[in-house]
Amino acid sequence: MFELAEVLGAQVGASRAAVDAGFVEHERQVGQTGVTVRPKLYIACGISGAVQHRAGMDQSAQIISINTDISAPINNIADFTIVGNVADVIPKMIKFYKKNSK
Ligand SMILES: Cc1cc2nc3c(=O)[nH]c(=O)nc-3n(C[C@H](O)[C@H](O)[C@H](O)COP(=O)(O)OP(=O)(O)OC[C@H]3O[C@@H](n4cnc5c(N)ncnc54)[C@H](O)[C@@H]3O)c2cc1C
Repeated sequence: MFELAEVLGAQVGASRAAVDAGFVEHERQVGQTGVTVRPKLYIACGISGAVQHRAGMDQSAQIISINTDISAPINNIADFTIVGNVADVIPKMIKFYKKNSK
């Protein structure tokens, strides 16, 4: 996640589940009890799309969801959905972006 953010010039946000699991600090939590963000592009990596999370990001201009579960609620608000494992998809995105950006 952090490598993808670096190549895109982006920031990493997180769900409360990720914060509670100790993956990232609370300052990065997006949602009802975190921060509200409205980026041009929000890439939801393994985010189910709970209402408390959506409250902090559903005004993003474009939303891409990467999720193994096609029926995840986040996909209802995503502009684009990639059905797959983030561990497979993210390295491909990084590779593609590096190859195709100047
Ligand atoms: C009062 C209250 C306040 C809350 N405030 C917040 C808040 O501010 N922010 C917040 O985020 N939540 C908040 N929550 C919690 C919220 O209800 C959800 O529990 C939380 O958002 C779920 O996080 P998640 O989507 O990361 O995890 P999960 O619900 O566990 O979903 C994980 C998703 O990832 C997918 N997945 C799993 N493994 C992979 C993989 N390898 N590749 C791709 N996809 C995968 C699954 O299919 C699933 O859709 C709050 C809850 C309450 C009650």
